[in-house]
Amino acid sequence: MKITVIGAGYVGLVSAACFSDFGYEVTCVDRDARRVAMLENGKTPIYEQGLEPILNSNRQAGRLSFTEDLKSAVAAADIVLIAVGTPTREGEDAADLSYVFAAGEEIARAMQGFTVIVTKSTVPVGTAARLREIISKARPDGDFEVASNPEFMREGSAVEDFLRPDRVVIGVGSERAEAALRQLYRPLAAKNVPIVATSCEAAEIIKYAANTFLATRIAFVNQLADLCEKVGADIQDVVRGMGLDKRIGLQFLNPGPGFGGSCFPKDTRALAHTARQHGRPITIVETVIAANEGRKRALADRIQEAVGGTLAGKKVALLGIAFKAETDDIRDAAALSLVPELQRRGAALAAFDPVAMDNGRQSFESVQWCADAYSAAIGADAVVVLTEWNVFRGLDLRRLAKDMRQPVMVDFRNLFAFADVQGSGITYHSIGRASIVPPDTRRADILPFKSGAV
Ligand code: NAD
Repeated sequence: MKITVIGAGYVGLVSAACFSDFGYEVTCVDRDARRVAMLENGKTPIYEQGLEPILNSNRQAGRLSFTEDLKSAVAAADIVLIAVGTPTREGEDAADLSYVFAAGEEIARAMQGFTVIVTKSTVPVGTAARLREIISKARPDGDFEVASNPEFMREGSAVEDFLRPDRVVIGVGSERAEAALRQLYRPLAAKNVPIVATSCEAAEIIKYAANTFLATRIAFVNQLADLCEKVGADIQDVVRGMGLDKRIGLQFLNPGPGFGGSCFPKDTRALAHTARQHGRPITIVETVIAANEGRKRALADRIQEAVGGTLAGKKVALLGIAFKAETDDIRDAAALSLVPELQRRGAALAAFDPVAMDNGRQSFESVQWCADAYSAAIGADAVVVLTEWNVFRGLDLRRLAKDMRQPVMVDFRNLFAFADVQGSGITYHSIGRASIVPPDTRRADILPFKSGAV
C-alpha cells in the first residue's frame, strides 16, 4: 500500500513516520522547501520525543521520503492523508479550511487510479462532503473516495499515542473507503486497538467533542481553584479527592494558566461556531472559551500583585514558554499574550525553556534568553513558572532565590509542594492554594493569596 501524507507538521510527520514503521511505503509532502530539505538530511524540524529515530530508520530503509512535489507523490498513492493546518479564520471563530481545500484541489488534479482521500486534519462537520464536491468538480472523471480519520495524538507523546492509541476513528461513506482504512490500520487492529467505524459527519464531530470536553475539564478545575483560593481549601487535595472517583478520573484536572496550544483554543471556538451556525448553540463551550480567555488575561495581574503592585522597572523571569511540557510548540501558549502584556506594564523579561527558545526568539522581541532557570532568575523580582517541564520540578529553590532581587515565585503549574518551598526564602504563590511567605517577611505562617477570582 502506497501512502502520501500532505503536510509535514506535528501530525503529518508523526503519521508518516509511524505508517512507514508499519511497513508501508510513505511519501510526506510539504510546500515548505526548508522543512523538506531538513527532513531529507535526517534533521527533524519539530521537537517530538522518539520521532527522530523512527524517521531516520524508515528513511534509511527506503520506506519514507519527503518531497515538495505533491503531483508525483499523489499520482503514485493509494491513500492520501491531508494533515495541513486548520487555524482559526482571521477575525472569526470558524476554522480556516483554505489549506485543506487547496490541498484537495491539488490532489484532484494529480490523482491517478482509485484513490482514497482522507482528512486527518481537525475539520468541522460537513468538510468531507464539501471536499468530495470540490474534488468531483475538479476531476469529474476521478475514481476516488473521501474519508475522515481525525487524529488524537498529543504533542509530547505523539509517537507513543499514534502507535498505541485508545481507539482509531474512521469516518466513511462507502464500503470501499471503509475497506481501505481498515487495511491501513490493520497493524493496530491486530493489537486489539478498537476501530470506531462511522459516518464522516460523526467522525468529524467526535474529534471536536473530545477536545472540547477536555478543555471543559481544565476550565472547570481552574474556576474551582479560584474558589479554593478564596475559601482556604487546597485545590490539589480537592482534585485528588474528586479525581480518584473512577467515574471522573484524574486526567486533565490540573489547575494552571488556562489551556493553550495549537488545538484546544481553536477547536473550542470552531465547535461553538459550528453549533451556532446550525442553530444549536453549545452554551457550555461558549462559557469555557470566555472563562479561559479571562484567565489568560488575568495572569499579568497575579504577577503584578506578587511583585508589590507595579511591574514598572521590575524584572520577571519566565520558566517555560511552550504551551505545555515536552513540546517546542508555542502556538496559543500562555506566554504569547503574557510576554507583551508584562512588557507593556514596564517589566523587563528573561526566559528559559528547554526546547522552545528558537520559536520564542522568532516571536518575542526584547526578551533575554538564558541558558537555564538559574541564570534567568539573576536580579529578578519574580520567577514565573508557565510550563510544567520536569526539569523545573527539581530546581534548587535556595540557589534560585540567592541571586534574585526579590525572592518571589508565581507558580502557574503548582510544581512544588509546600515542603519543597519552606526554608528556601522564597515567597511562593501558586494556583488554588495558600501562598507561602518566609518567616522574616511573613505576618502569619501562611497568608492567603489575595488576587481575587480570575
Ligand atoms: P502544522 O502547522 O504543524 O503543519 C502543517 C504543515 O502543512 C505545514 O508544515 C505546512 O507547510 C503544510 N502545508 C499546508 N498546506 C500544504 C499544501 N497544500 N501542500 C503541502 N504542505 C502543506 O500543523 P499540525 O499541528 O500538524 O496540525 C495539522 C492538523 O492536525 C490541524 O488540523 C490540527 O488541528 C490537527 N491536529 C493537531 C494535533 C497536534 O498535536 N498538533 C493533534 C491532533 C490533530
